[in-house]
Amino acid sequence: MSAEAGHPTAHLDGERINVMKPWVGVEEAHAVAEVIASGWLAQGPRVAEFERAFASAQDVAYGVAVSSCTAALHLALVVAGVQPGDEVVVPSFSFIATANAPRYVGAEPVFADVDPVTGNLTVAGVAQVLGPRTTAVIVVDQGGIPADVEPLAELCAARGIALVEDAACAVGSLYLGRPVGVGADIAAWSFHPRKLLTTGEGGMLTTDRAEWAERARRLRQHSASVSAAERHASLRAPAERYTEIGFNYRMTDVQAAIGLVQLGRLQEMVERRRALAAVYRDALDGVPGLRLVEDPPGGAANFQSLWAEIGDEFPLDRDALLDALAAEGISARPGIMAAHLEPAFSGWPLRVPLTATERLTARTLILPLYHELGEAGVLRVADAVRRASAPVAGHARREVRT
Ligand SMILES: *Cc1c(COP(=O)(O)O)cnc(C)c1O
Repeated sequence: MSAEAGHPTAHLDGERINVMKPWVGVEEAHAVAEVIASGWLAQGPRVAEFERAFASAQDVAYGVAVSSCTAALHLALVVAGVQPGDEVVVPSFSFIATANAPRYVGAEPVFADVDPVTGNLTVAGVAQVLGPRTTAVIVVDQGGIPADVEPLAELCAARGIALVEDAACAVGSLYLGRPVGVGADIAAWSFHPRKLLTTGEGGMLTTDRAEWAERARRLRQHSASVSAAERHASLRAPAERYTEIGFNYRMTDVQAAIGLVQLGRLQEMVERRRALAAVYRDALDGVPGLRLVEDPPGGAANFQSLWAEIGDEFPLDRDALLDALAAEGISARPGIMAAHLEPAFSGWPLRVPLTATERLTARTLILPLYHELGEAGVLRVADAVRRASAPVAGHARREVRT
């Protein structure tokens, strides 16, 4: 499949550039058609196959497919044994699902500030807010930038605290040369189209702990003791029991079939994004007051979200830059949200000031980056940013080029 040939106009002046676009095509359509022809539409053999393939790609023993990353985060806290009244340390600087998850189990999210460069939790930031009631930490690989998990894992292990990795954005990102997620007790993934690898909607839990995987597998299907596959395998289905209060968090075979095709392309997707991020980096090099997020020490990002921080030397603030880009048909986005600033968390007590969080959420924007954007598309966005940063110099550049 030639992405460039399929979408040759993405870079043309006047053509709208979106912030993100899933890379899907005829192979996914064929895979879905096969599932429909098979007559097995809900959770079945394709889901089982996707779980095995995904776990193997992530270098972990078990994968449990679910309906979303939000569902995965909820089940992760249940199997980790988080109880009502417990505290769970989370970044506020994340999609709100991270902060909501502890509340689903009656626990309290405690916000830690993030590193001002990577936007991720740090061991020092987490240590500041730990308390006697803390039973879990949710570390996020924000925007696909790998978090520095190793020191956090040591801190958590020493205190008997579960470390959950919200790797929603980070499929294909590496930390210390291995897929992100392996350093945590359990990791949660998203396959929403806003992320890199999509199944439409969908999520996954990965873990090396057999008991946690087994319990999550039951919980996602009402905690039924007999799976749909087992029931189907015999004419006289075995009697089933419902072992605890469960949920319907199942993925469908239709979704898993899409996921299997996408997983086969993961390497290519990540390489392409890293190449396009490098084009951005070159094209925006030296723009005063503009900082592009980079690989952290020990990590290689998938650049699911390539964000830029707008400093004081940039002539426009973040929102004015978004307006300038929109005027050129370019849809960038404000950066990552901060949960503690949302009405859902109004009045929520803060244990430490969230200085880096508030700075990053106010000053960052996410630049368009998707598989089919191409180098020319990146250069068009970069050119628009440059002209916004130095209107006069920008015009001169333009004349030279035409
Ligand atoms: C997108 C996202 C989620 C939620 O994923 P869903 O699959 O939509 O539930 C959770 N955490 C982070 C960090 C995300 O970016």
